[in-house]
Formats: sequence, structure tokens, C-alpha cells
Amino acid sequence: MHDAPILIIYTGGTLGMLESARGLVPGNDIESRLRTAFAALPPARQASLPAFEVLEYAAPIDSSAATPADWQRLARDIAEGYSTTDAGSPHYSGFVVLHGTDTLAWTASSLAYQLQGIDRPVVVTGAQLPLEAEGSDAPGNIEAALRFAACRELQEVAVCFAGKLLRGARTRKWDTHAFDGFASPNYPLLGELVDGQPVLYTARGLDAHQRGLPRFELADYAATKESPVVRIALWPGLSTRLLEAWLLDDSVQGALLEVWGSGNIPGDPALIGLLAQASGEGKLIAAISQCPHGPVSMETYAAGRGLIDAGVLPADAMTPEAVMTKLVHLLAQPLSDAERRQRFLTSLVGER
Ligand code: ASP
Repeated sequence: MHDAPILIIYTGGTLGMLESARGLVPGNDIESRLRTAFAALPPARQASLPAFEVLEYAAPIDSSAATPADWQRLARDIAEGYSTTDAGSPHYSGFVVLHGTDTLAWTASSLAYQLQGIDRPVVVTGAQLPLEAEGSDAPGNIEAALRFAACRELQEVAVCFAGKLLRGARTRKWDTHAFDGFASPNYPLLGELVDGQPVLYTARGLDAHQRGLPRFELADYAATKESPVVRIALWPGLSTRLLEAWLLDDSVQGALLEVWGSGNIPGDPALIGLLAQASGEGKLIAAISQCPHGPVSMETYAAGRGLIDAGVLPADAMTPEAVMTKLVHLLAQPLSDAERRQRFLTSLVGER
């Protein structure tokens, strides 16, 4: 355990929502509400809770409204809290981000790229029910996130939900309502809460992968409010003409293609020509499978070879969220096309 407190950053989401005439809306005053919720815990659990401070955003949001600018703001706030005192000790030993569940996986993935090399825990959590709702999962999720954020061995961005700890850049929202609402379909759990105690499966963690000095990459996402990256899931009978309107648009610099099975597309020369033209113009196009489990391997079928010929980047078994946020991240930096392609194919934070 570290001695310094944990910084909880509240961004909004159901967890902090209150009833209004129009339905649930983000609420304020989260610190006193949290302390009230924790005061209801049994004394031994209260006593063992890590110390924390709260940074509450003035205008908390429903995460369905989040943009890359929100990811950037959060990463910068964590980077600021990462600083040390004049005596060289950390202001905060770890970070908990309270976030809406809808785009939580996007934020967690983006934070992982921006905070590459971090050697303290960043644990993102949310809830399916508001903090004060009867039987809410919010107090338990926040308590678990705090306990994981106090684990020195956790040195990456993770998601904590329903007692499970998942790699941030591998996580997806999996259920619209169930408390066990997040999954990491292609990577095992990083940890679990067992009898109320955090247990880390350290061999799966990133600490060895990124040992060394932190090297945050706080790129400027200001220009990406209107995302330069589009997401296209293939459908039977797709129209190359419609794809062309997106892929050849001047503002589009990257695309996620969600293709069939192990990495296949229709063998239509017009489609392959369009993809080749877009990637020839320097657009980063990456492919994952529409299957939630398993990687793409574009060389298996003749129907996948067209992707290789067109210069489409295989995204292995990455989540759509991890691909999109990685493309945004790479495009926001002064890199050459070759460097961007090479970095996309490299595992930066265990996302592939
Ligand atoms: N719409 C909410 C949000 O993402 C859902 C939630 O938090 O569960 O902010």
C-alpha cells in the first residue's frame, strides 16, 4: 500500500445521477454523497478503506456525450496529480475515475495510450444504478476500485466492475443492465475481489512490459472533436459508393473496418480498389473481426487477401474501442505514415 491518498475524479455517469422530470441527469456534490455511502459500511471495512480526495468536474456528463476532448482533459488531470511533492513523494498514490458506463471502455482505452508507462494504478469504474438507488452497485464498485487503486503492483489503466479487474484497453461494455456489465473478451482478468480483498494476477499485468521511466504521451486532441476516424461495420450487400463517401472524405484520416469472421471481405475489385486508394492517400485503415472473440488473420482465405493487398492493418483481437482510440491517438501526433503504421502494429499498452 502507498501512503499518499488516492485521487477520485468524478466525470458523471449513472453512478452520480439524480432523478429529474426528464429522467436521470448527472448530479453534483459527489464527495459528501460518497462519504455518506461509505459511512454505511461495516466499521472494519470503513477503517480499511484507503484515504482519498475527490476532484469533481463542475459539469458532470452522461458519458454518451463524451468526446476525445474529455479523454484528453482526464489524462491531463491524472498527469497533474501524478506529480511529486518537493520532498519527492507522490501527491497521489493512485487514481480512480468515476465514469458513465456507456463510453467507459473508450475512455479507459484512450487513457491507456495517453498515460503509457504509468507506474501507478488508474482504475476506471461506474455503475448500472445511481449511488442512492436501492440495492445499487455503485458503492461496491467504488469501494473495489479504491482497493485496487491502492495496490502498488497495479501499474496500468484498468476497469473495475462487479468485483472484476480488467485491462482498460481490452474492455467492452457487455450488458446494458446486468451488474456484471463489462467483459474483456480476448484477455484474462487482471484481478478479482476475493472476500472483499483485491487479488491481482500480477503475471498478466503491464508492470514488466513497460518497466522504466513513465513516458506519458499527452497528445493534443483539440482538432479531433469531430473525430477524424470513422467506424464501418460491413454488411451483406454493402455499397462501395456509400463507403467511398466516408473513406475519401477529406476530413477522414483513419477508419476501423469491422470485417467478417477471421478477416474476410467480399472479393469485389471496386471495394479493394477503394481501400487501396484510401490507404494510398495516407489514411490509416485497420480491420478487426465482427466476432467478439478471436483475432483476424487476413491471410487465411482468398477473401481476406484483398485487405492485405489494399494496405489495411490487421488489428489482431483488439476491441473496437481500443482501435478507434489508438487511431485518434496516433493521428494526433507528429508522426510519419510509416511510424504510425508501425506503432499501430506494436502493442503499446497490452491492447493487442
Ligand atoms: N448513460 C449513462 C452514461 O454512460 C449510463 C451509465 O453510466 O451507466 O453516462
